[in-house]
Amino acid sequence: MTCGLRDWPEDCAADHIAPALGLRCTTAGKQWSGPCPVCHGPRCFSLAVKEGRLAWYCHMEPACAGDEIRDALAKLVPACVSPSRPTDLSARRADKIARSQLEPLLELDDCALRLRLACIIWQIPPKEAAAKLGMSRRTYYRAVSGVPNLARNRRSA
Ligand SMILES: [Zn+2]
Ligand SMILES: [Zn+2]
Repeated sequence: MTCGLRDWPEDCAADHIAPALGLRCTTAGKQWSGPCPVCHGPRCFSLAVKEGRLAWYCHMEPACAGDEIRDALAKLVPACVSPSRPTDLSARRADKIARSQLEPLLELDDCALRLRLACIIWQIPPKEAAAKLGMSRRTYYRAVSGVPNLARNRRSA
C-alpha cells in the first residue's frame, strides 16, 4: 500500500500523518506539532514540509533520533513514511528485489531498461548509473525521458 499523496507532502502531512499522531497544525500547510511518537512528550514534536519534503524534529532534551522517529512513523503511517535504511547486518537480508519493482521494467526499451536496472542493482541515482555504464548524454536523456519518474529516483526511500 502506497500513500496516494506521496507527491503532495503537505496534503499527506495534513490528511494522514497529523491525524494519526494527533498533531495540531501550527502553520497552514507547512507545520504541525504535537506528541512525539517516540518519547511521547506532549507538544515536543514538530512535522514540517520543507522544499517539498517531510521533515520532523523532536524538541525533547535529549531529542529523539531522526531514524527512531522515522521508524515510529513508518509503523503508524506505513503508506506515507518508509522505515529508515537497514543497518549493515540486516542489509544482506533485505538485498532482495520485489517482483512489483521489476514488473514495470517489462515496458521499458533497451537503454531505459539498462539504466533502471543499474539504479536498482547499484542503488544509485540515474545520472551516476549512466556514467558508470558509460552511457552517452544523449542515450541517458532518451532513457530518462521515457520514464518520467526515473529522474526523481528513490534517493529518499
Ligand atoms: Zn500519506
Ligand atoms: Zn521525542
